[in-house]
Amino acid sequence: MTYSNKNFDVIIIGSGIAGVSIGSELSNNLKICILEKENYLSYHSTGRSFAFYLESYGNKIIRQLTSASKDFFVNNSNNENPILKKRGVLHIGSKDQVSSIDALYSDLIQINDNFKLLDRNETIKLLPCLNSESIHNSIYDENASDIDVNNLYNVFLNECKKNNSVIEKNVLIQNCLKKGNHWILNTNKGEYNCNIIVNAAGAWAGEFGIKTGSQNINLIPKKRTIFGFKPLNVELNKNWPLAVDVEENFYFKIENDIVLASPADENPCKPHDAQPDEYDIAVGAERIKKSTLFQFNSIKNKWAGLRSFVKDKNPVIGFDNQIENFFWFAGQGGYGIQISPTLAKIANNIILKKDNNFYENKLGMNFKSFDVKRFIDE
Ligand SMILES: Cc1cc2nc3c(=O)[nH]c(=O)nc-3n(C[C@H](O)[C@H](O)[C@H](O)COP(=O)(O)OP(=O)(O)OC[C@H]3O[C@@H](n4cnc5c(N)ncnc54)[C@H](O)[C@@H]3O)c2cc1C
Repeated sequence: MTYSNKNFDVIIIGSGIAGVSIGSELSNNLKICILEKENYLSYHSTGRSFAFYLESYGNKIIRQLTSASKDFFVNNSNNENPILKKRGVLHIGSKDQVSSIDALYSDLIQINDNFKLLDRNETIKLLPCLNSESIHNSIYDENASDIDVNNLYNVFLNECKKNNSVIEKNVLIQNCLKKGNHWILNTNKGEYNCNIIVNAAGAWAGEFGIKTGSQNINLIPKKRTIFGFKPLNVELNKNWPLAVDVEENFYFKIENDIVLASPADENPCKPHDAQPDEYDIAVGAERIKKSTLFQFNSIKNKWAGLRSFVKDKNPVIGFDNQIENFFWFAGQGGYGIQISPTLAKIANNIILKKDNNFYENKLGMNFKSFDVKRFIDE
């Protein structure tokens, strides 16, 4: 690309699922550029998720955003290549966690009647690798699914490309200067100009906002670890549902011929290239051995990534309160994949000054719960 071409309506910072999903929407009407600091697209959180779609996960607004995204996943799938593959999930609890199961169940049945309360025997029948001495009962959500993240990512990316968006890797932004209504971004690859910056920088979004002079949203990246093992004693069935401890102390699912598991760690940290820690894996292994029949001595694979949250754990979207033409698209936490289609459509409507009646009035979403304006008084 030549210097004179580097003028855009919108520059999106970050090529994770947030960046490409909002890019896919905006590029239908605007000239878009996505800038990525790494050598690979989706190198950070998006490339490291557990790839799961769970309507029973997170708080009310997360569940609404998740459910509203389902049609997009279905409509952009084909028979050979579905984005969602049904697996089901069991929220499992021990005798000491009965009140947590009860609380979650009474919360979930208000969403729909897909959620079933199962006793110990019914739970073990669905997931025979569980240790019957540790499990008391569970909640079953048969609609929970694996998400083919690569497939979904490419749906968004291809839409950006089809609309002639520019996607640049290895771009290091030195500063962003405001000149009238325009932004000038000085980078190692020269100057980029735009009207609107969209901050979709994942774990770096908080820092990037401060660097450009916008408000501090106190975004905290939290590390999460995944590890895989092959049990020595249990034959795996790839159709088993995912199991998640009702208080989210661990979870696991079967993928190919291994068990993929997590200690559900949430260690606050600075934005960085997260790596798995032996201690977190050992904690996860101990919790899983206690709740299942699995015996294993070695770890087949492992990775870690960052889930970034603000205090209320809701996403942060909207135009900044302090600087004009700076749009927040951050704080997707542990749900950024499953909420991506709907969050991107809502953000697109805000930027294009279109109404969001469908989401706000028909689906009853409380827009204040994710609006960046909620930080004004903090
Ligand atoms: C272990 C784990 C399991 C998860 N499981 C699930 C799950 O099952 N389901 C689900 O829905 N979600 C899950 N998530 C959460 C989900 O992965 C994230 O919410 C989502 O990927 C966030 O996307 P993002 O685009 O905001 O961030 P990222 O994917 O991290 O993308 C941000 C990008 O911005 C780039 N960037 C940052 N600063 C700059 C800059 N100054 N200039 C240029 N580029 C920059 C970064 O290099 C990065 O590529 C999980 C996350 C983890 C870590």
